[in-house]
Amino acid sequence: MITKNTKLDITITDMTNEGEGIGKVDGFPLFVKDAVIGDRVKVTVTKLKKNYGYAHLDKVIKASPDRVEPNCPVSKRCGGCSLQHLSYEAQLKFKYNKVVNCLKRIGGIGDAESRIKDIIGMNKDGSSPWNYRNKAQFPVGRDKDNNIVTGFYAMRSHDIINYSDCKIQHPSNVEIVEAVKGFMEEYAIPPYDEVSHTGIVRHIVTRIAVSSGEIMVCLVINADSLPYADEVVDTLTRVDGVASICININKDKTNRILGDKTVTIYGNDYIIDSIGGVNYRIQARSFYQVNPVQTEVLYSKALEYADLSGDEVVWDVYCGIGTISLFLAGKAKHVYGVEIVPEAIDDAIANAELNDIKNTTFYVGKAEEVLPREYEEHNVSADVIVVDPPRKGCDVKALETIVKMNPARVVYVSCDPATLARDVKWLGENGYELVEGVAVDMFPHTGHVETVVQLVNIGVKPDYTVRLEVDVDEFYKTVGEDKSQKQR
Ligand code: SAH
Repeated sequence: MITKNTKLDITITDMTNEGEGIGKVDGFPLFVKDAVIGDRVKVTVTKLKKNYGYAHLDKVIKASPDRVEPNCPVSKRCGGCSLQHLSYEAQLKFKYNKVVNCLKRIGGIGDAESRIKDIIGMNKDGSSPWNYRNKAQFPVGRDKDNNIVTGFYAMRSHDIINYSDCKIQHPSNVEIVEAVKGFMEEYAIPPYDEVSHTGIVRHIVTRIAVSSGEIMVCLVINADSLPYADEVVDTLTRVDGVASICININKDKTNRILGDKTVTIYGNDYIIDSIGGVNYRIQARSFYQVNPVQTEVLYSKALEYADLSGDEVVWDVYCGIGTISLFLAGKAKHVYGVEIVPEAIDDAIANAELNDIKNTTFYVGKAEEVLPREYEEHNVSADVIVVDPPRKGCDVKALETIVKMNPARVVYVSCDPATLARDVKWLGENGYELVEGVAVDMFPHTGHVETVVQLVNIGVKPDYTVRLEVDVDEFYKTVGEDKSQKQR
């Protein structure tokens, strides 16, 4: 019987998204911080819940061969890269296994290994799993000695770790952050203080169009204007690539980084990035994928799975700023995009014009409302439907309409393999077979994984060789996740 304070020797066999090791004792999972897959560890149980528990890592008895020294000195405290202590090869294996396990155990696809191809990591064709992000948000504050600090919030807190050389960010950020700090010190511009809601500079937000090297710097301030704005322009334009500088006004007591009003003080109010020959205009508040190299890989796979000849009517559901829509438009007869955020649709329309793409139509609204409305009232059709929902997956009303629209193929892009598997199971029961899929590592060193799968309309329930009993409860127990949002 395990109780609090029980001491155990266990082997770590899995990990959570947050990078905690999971070891099992007679099938009962224990979560162990700082342990990695393959470690043999001594632990003390600290907390017990009905279906799982937590244990403290007392000693690593035998380190996993996949354990590595993190590349970043603050990785433990920051928590942004929860897998840095695991080798990149092992991270990829962990993510692949996660996708396959979800599809087997939640999706009921017994032969998922043969349908899901090798994960595409950032270790091939000269790409690197470091410095890949194109967007950074550095909070600004003061330390105990009253020095200005910028960096990252420590895990589950609002204490700022003073460190700007983030190993997954673009290297230019260091120079930008140091330049802003220098400017604030020289002109005595106070950083924002969350507690007293005083001070001025709250965040430094940077975005980089990796294809052109153009950089946007946005200073988020708790004021109507920034004193010495000309001087900050002078300072920042000395950094190579800075093409746009803006001030975002956020005077609210909130955790939200950006406020509603942005004023451009240098250059355009956007930068332009290009992915696979399509140009995208990115503003301070636009949603845009953070890993441009892997985004192109992911979209190319989506395009391959869409298998377009040029005559198809395609729907891009959950389209954001229309990135996938525009990527597919050149190969389709017409692409319809659906997205809930109105500003994203403004960007999608602007981006279609920017690229002189005329065969797209965008709708603002919920997928689960727009699709049924357009299908029932306007009898729209679809040859191929692409979905790219948020983590909670597709609303069942949207899935029902997709099946009624009877496309030949559904391409499902997903940032959460558990909800992907749940929706794939539903689609399987309604005549769509998962034929092939692949995971793409969009977020190296974090626990997140992106997957794209092709489902083909076969009219009947597919036979996935070995039909497994779906045990969702058991599955969530082993990963320690909140299952409430994932079950229907
Ligand atoms: N395909 C895009 C964005 C995917 S992110 C890209 O690759 O860039 C998921 C998108 O779904 C977000 O833009 C979010 O705003 C949108 N969204 C969330 N819930 C939605 C809903 N119920 N209906 C339509 N769009 C929704």
